[in-house]
Amino acid sequence: MAHTRLWGGIEAGGTKINCAIATASTTSSRSSRSPSGPALPQILAETRIATTTPAETIAQIVHFFQVYQQRVGPLETIGLASFGPVDLHLSSPTYGYVLDTPKPGWRHIDLLGGLGRSLQLPIVLDTDVNAAALGEHRWGAAQGLDTFLYLTVGTGIGGGAMVNGKLLHGLLHPEMGHILLRQDVSQDPFPGGCPFHGNCLEGLASGSAIAARWGKPADQLPPEHPAWALEAEYLAQAIATFTFTLSPERIILGGGIMHQQHLFPLVHRLARAKLETYLAVPQVLEQIDRYIVPPLLGDQAGILGAIALAQEGSGG
Ligand code: ZN
Repeated sequence: MAHTRLWGGIEAGGTKINCAIATASTTSSRSSRSPSGPALPQILAETRIATTTPAETIAQIVHFFQVYQQRVGPLETIGLASFGPVDLHLSSPTYGYVLDTPKPGWRHIDLLGGLGRSLQLPIVLDTDVNAAALGEHRWGAAQGLDTFLYLTVGTGIGGGAMVNGKLLHGLLHPEMGHILLRQDVSQDPFPGGCPFHGNCLEGLASGSAIAARWGKPADQLPPEHPAWALEAEYLAQAIATFTFTLSPERIILGGGIMHQQHLFPLVHRLARAKLETYLAVPQVLEQIDRYIVPPLLGDQAGILGAIALAQEGSGG
């Protein structure tokens, strides 16, 4: 293993944190799902840690990487794909801090510094959704594209974007879950669940919103339940807004809610209807099912994205 290149990945979410160590794959382990693209990295070790207090959680992450490095050898870099909001500005005094999160105890916590001081390794930071976008760009559904979105629809909703070949940061980073939508309260009187905005996209269409509106978690609602047509309508509105704003070449919809496969055809139909009268391009008119797609990396998009961040940071 002396010359094996090793990278670490941290997918830090509000309820759990996935950590992994990976090496470059040989071509023999090339992914059968993307036969023309580069081989997926090989995951050598993985662990899942509950997100509790910052001190306890950071100590557990550090322990995982230290034990592995003592046994096998040093990592080159670690990619940290963090829940937000997080400060991504290198020149900022609070670079790497978790900002105004509603997660108790995590407001203004120096996540990057806490890890970096203990691990003494270069750590490449981005949002969890930007990292997932990067993973899909390297190995998944966005190979060969340079402007696309990755939207996760789970307990919350967030979006990452690559624009002209670069992950989009801007003022802070995109907060695509918090755009405002048009709500027909005669059809949907639910006030919305976002603590900041009420009926924003996340407030109306996240897994939490679905559970609060219908009194049952999404995975207990059958495909014919009216929840799904409503969900598709909100996602289609958001997709139209993002498409008109950023002109993505593809939109990847991941996250737990999108495990409901029957949701995709509904979203395709409604999104096409909102786009086609103005955006008469083949991707919309003829190939909407190739324009709005699930992540090719599935639920591995997040952790593989963190590994992709690490590899970018080491020129690998
Ligand atoms: Zn909101």
